[in-house]
Amino acid sequence: MGGRDATMVLLDENGIRCDGRKVDEPRRIMIKAGGLKNADGSAYIEFGDNKILVGVFGPRDVHPKHMSDTDTGILRVRYHMEPFSVGERKNPAPSRREIEISKVIKEALEPAVMLDKFPRTAVDVFIEVLQADGGTRCAALTAASVALADAGIPMRDMVSAIAAGKVADTVILDVNNEEDQAGQADMPIGYMPNLEQITLLQLDGILTPEEYKKCVEVGVNGCKLVYELQKKALNDKYFGNGGD
Ligand code: ADP
Repeated sequence: MGGRDATMVLLDENGIRCDGRKVDEPRRIMIKAGGLKNADGSAYIEFGDNKILVGVFGPRDVHPKHMSDTDTGILRVRYHMEPFSVGERKNPAPSRREIEISKVIKEALEPAVMLDKFPRTAVDVFIEVLQADGGTRCAALTAASVALADAGIPMRDMVSAIAAGKVADTVILDVNNEEDQAGQADMPIGYMPNLEQITLLQLDGILTPEEYKKCVEVGVNGCKLVYELQKKALNDKYFGNGGD
């Protein structure tokens, strides 16, 4: 949570948010599977004003070799923000935030990927944030799942992600940048809809136990909506007219 902007109305008297959405309304989400010729799998997502491209490579040999595991494959994730992805130019050096988000996305994907099927190899997931507007880790995790599926990596389920949060003492779905900065709580959730397992749950802010439960419920329901769009992206590429 950033410094609060007292002048910003995050929720008006009609229950409408600063970007015109209702409390339980996600931003516009568009997912495309494929698109990168040189990657084994890829996906592009627009999640509100977030624009993120993901390329997946592998399973492939691990260099240096001592990093490989004879019992299992390994997943490596790099989340990277372009310097032009935010209003004020971001320092191109890898930030602590990018390192943290790479780690949480990797850990959120690991339960979904059948790494034991390809020992001694690595699957690399490269995430490029072209434009950021709050919620990039959820949008990136969602797109990374689609890119892994597009690469034909065996998976137990896809991970779908969206944030719940709190503004003006009200639980909301899909926190945007202003709500993240000036609101009361932001809870990114990653969820495997078929296995009914949460693989990412973070919380920035303070919630009562009731609000916490409500956020998880609202977030998980949001993930189920996201899951339908992930499936549609893969269906469009492999069975529809959207392939390339
Ligand atoms: P997430 O993108 O997953 O919500 P954060 O809560 O850390 O992750 O970031 C919230 C938002 O803050 C980002 O989506 C982005 O719009 C903005 N942001 C992040 N890093 C920077 C930066 N270095 N400069 C300007 N804005 C940033």
